[in-house]
Amino acid sequence: MYLCQTFFLLILGMSILLDYVRMFEGKNDLDRRNTLIGTLESKGHNFELEDYKYKGEEGINIIVTKGDGQRDILLTTHYDVVPGSPGANDNASCIAVLLDILEKLKDYKVKNRIRIIFFDDEEINCIGSQAYVAKHGVDNIIGVYNTELVGMGDTVGIWPVTKDVEDSKVLLNLKSVLEDKGYPYGEAGLLPLLFSDHRSFRECGLKDAFCLSMVDGKDMNEIRRFAESPKSMQGEIPFMFKLYHSSEDKSKYLSEEALRLMSDVIYTSIVRLDQDS
Ligand SMILES: [Zn+2]
Repeated sequence: MYLCQTFFLLILGMSILLDYVRMFEGKNDLDRRNTLIGTLESKGHNFELEDYKYKGEEGINIIVTKGDGQRDILLTTHYDVVPGSPGANDNASCIAVLLDILEKLKDYKVKNRIRIIFFDDEEINCIGSQAYVAKHGVDNIIGVYNTELVGMGDTVGIWPVTKDVEDSKVLLNLKSVLEDKGYPYGEAGLLPLLFSDHRSFRECGLKDAFCLSMVDGKDMNEIRRFAESPKSMQGEIPFMFKLYHSSEDKSKYLSEEALRLMSDVIYTSIVRLDQDS
């Protein structure tokens, strides 16, 4: 199946997203950063390296900016990894999707500004995105699409969807794209055990900041239960969390279809938001 699909994608001149994942798999933070910089250079994407010293940590966020409008749509992920984990789903999968969206954006004339940001130090309490928010603020941001764990499953998970953000323009836009395309999706509220870089924006009062993940639709309730209270699971951990942060977070468990679906959803949604804003 994979060989067959690979063949057609190559004929169409399209990237194989799993190949991107494998480029980052098993590498440490520094090697990931260098691989990402080399890939952006080889694909002809201009980028900035924004270094920071924040709350005792030093790091480098990598930012690609498209368009020259006054307000920003952010598409974000983290490139750092938990030591000892190959980090295929967390978070090479998201790096792959953002690289794919960058290619698609080459043919799109941006009305506002779209910033694709690869944050450092998410695994250290989201320091990279906290430093970004401290420097740039949130006033000029139209919306934030953060990504985590997008390499396995058939269903798009949007989180955290809480009462106070139900009327968010980004959320309504995302849901309309998913419904138009007929892609299965589910929403989750606050997941006390899970956080990611969208939190740095929410904490500064921006409600239009969400995280997207791919999950297995049949495991949706178990995943939600696990993220709320792992002790209630009595050892029956959902498969994606067995791999999460472990030495088994490998690309062999990921699927091209999941990566491609997420790329399509986000690309369509940010273009629609850009045109409507
Ligand atoms: Zn992560």
